[in-house]
Formats: sequence, C-alpha cells, structure tokens
Amino acid sequence: MTKRVVLIGHPVAHSLSGAMQQAAFDHLGVDAAYELWDRPPASLAEAIAELRTEAFLGANVTIPHKERVVPMVDKLTEEAHATGAVNTITKEGRKLVGHNTDVPGFKVALDKLVGRQKMPRHAVVLGAGGGARAVVHSLIREGFQRVIVFNRHLHRGEAMVKHFSRSAAHMDLRAMPWHESIIEAELSNATSIGLTADESPIPGEILTPDILVLDLIYARTRLLREAEKAGCATSDGGIMLLNQGAAAFTLWTGQPAPLDEMQAALEAARAGGLTSAEGEPGAAEPAEA
Ligand code: NDP
Repeated sequence: MTKRVVLIGHPVAHSLSGAMQQAAFDHLGVDAAYELWDRPPASLAEAIAELRTEAFLGANVTIPHKERVVPMVDKLTEEAHATGAVNTITKEGRKLVGHNTDVPGFKVALDKLVGRQKMPRHAVVLGAGGGARAVVHSLIREGFQRVIVFNRHLHRGEAMVKHFSRSAAHMDLRAMPWHESIIEAELSNATSIGLTADESPIPGEILTPDILVLDLIYARTRLLREAEKAGCATSDGGIMLLNQGAAAFTLWTGQPAPLDEMQAALEAARAGGLTSAEGEPGAAEPAEA
C-alpha cells in the first residue's frame, strides 16, 4: 500500500517541499506519496489525529502551526522540546513523535554563510514564529553572546525569549520592539541576521557590509537584494529547506536522503513558478528597480 506523507500548513499551495520529497521517494523506490494539506488552525487537531491511522508514514508541519502542534503529539525529541516547535512528525505505531529538523537545516545554512570566517557572536533575529525558534536555539547552541529578537507583535518575541530563558541564562537574549532606529542600533553590533519575516522588513540603508544576512525565505527577497547591494554576504532559505527536508526524509524512511535529486527537484519546481520555502504565499521576486 502506498504510504502517505503530508505537509500540514496554512497556506501550503506554493510549497516546494512536495516536489523535493516526492523526487526523493521516487528516486529510492519508496512507495510513498507526499500530499499538501491546507488546514486552518481550527482543523489542525483533526488533521493530526488522522495521522495515527496506518496509511500515514509521517508529516511535515509548517506555517503557522509549528508551535501549536507541540501538545498534539505523544513524544518530543530533544530539539523539538528545546525549541517548542515541531516541523516533522514520525510514527511509532499509533503514537506520534515530534521532531525539529529546522535546527540541523539552519546549522548547515549558517555554517555555509559564515564560511571560513570566525563564527559571529552577535545576531539580530527578525521574527519570532516557529522558524525563528529553530534559529534562536541554534544561535544559543553555537555560542552567540548577544541575540536580539524583533517581532511585529512584541509579546510573541517576549514569549520566545522566556521559553529559552534557561538555556540562554549565560548570555544576552532579549526581545525588543520593532522600531527602525532600535533595529539600526542593534545591527551596528550584529554580524548575522536570521530572518523569518516577510519581504522587506528593514530599509536597505541600515545594512553595512560587515553584516551577514540569512533569509529563511527561498527566494531572492528584497532584503537579500538590498543586502547584496550594501556589500553584505547573503544566503536565502534554500540550503535550510534542502537540509531540513533531507533530515525529515531520513526520519521517515531510515535511508540517507538523495540530496542531489532533492536539490534538482527544488530547482525545477522553482523554475516552474513555485517560490515558497514552505508555506508562505509566493514570495515572488519582483523586477529589479
Ligand atoms: P510563523 O507563522 O510561525 O511566524 C511568522 C512570523 O512572521 C512571525 O514572526 C510573524 O510576526 C512574522 N510576520 C508575518 N507577517 C508579517 C508582516 N506582515 N510583517 C512583519 N512580520 C510578519 O511562521 P514560521 O516561523 O514557521 O515561518 C516564517 C518564514 O520562514 C516562512 O516564510 C517560512 O517559509 C520560512 N521558513 C523557512 C524554512 C526553510 O527551510 N528555508 C524553515 C522554517 C521557516 P507576528 O508574530 O507579529 O505575527
């Protein structure tokens, strides 16, 4: 029987994960089909309950559900527990296990962006959703000394900082209100940005060439274009997307992920018009001004 793997999010129509995971299943002859399930928050519990039936191998969880799904699974891995966010679900019989493969995915992306330079110690994170939790957890683990979180709704940034208060006790992790002047002041201190928000959260003028800019969105966003113009080293969400997907594939199948095939499928899907790292509605690249 063909096993089912689903991506649960809202929206999911533009997601690249389907093309990437199906290519991996097909390449290795895994009899599984990857489906996109658009489920608003009110239908999430029902969707998660359905995964318990035999037909399902597991699932991915994306915007805006990564935090909400935590109490709905039976067991959490250390990373899912530490982040308070789940992006991958596996099964142990009828039991559901929540994982967070955004953490290793982000680590690969960060290492690649930093390259041979010394790992920075200060970061500004724009956003405080499920994706940002993997970013902040990784930055703490990496030994960053000062991480400032800016979020449109301050209370969500504060809740995230509170969540990490124990693991970040030795460092300066704080949430600040989203004001351009405060972000600019912090950026003068920062050497890295993990961005999880939308297209152009900050004006290009406040970026300086010593800043590394990592945008989780898999598209050449306005922020990335402006950062390049300012002389910054940049990276989009492609490396993280590929590597979180590869880790999820291995969890479901027990096999090493065929990275080349997954990368090729991502590129083909993107060339075909899909632009979203995960669930966000088409972060299309506007024409250069
Ligand atoms: P969530 O829904 O959990 O959080 C969304 C975040 O974006 C919140 O911080 C929210 O702020 C902010 N936001 C949304 N709209 C706006 C806006 N108009 N202005 C300012 N801030 C806004 O989503 P995730 O954290 O799971 O995902 C966020 C992004 O990161 C998505 O684009 C997703 O595809 C990408 N991502 C990519 C990955 C990859 O592998 N490349 C992995 C994980 C995420 P507020 O709380 O104030 O609403």
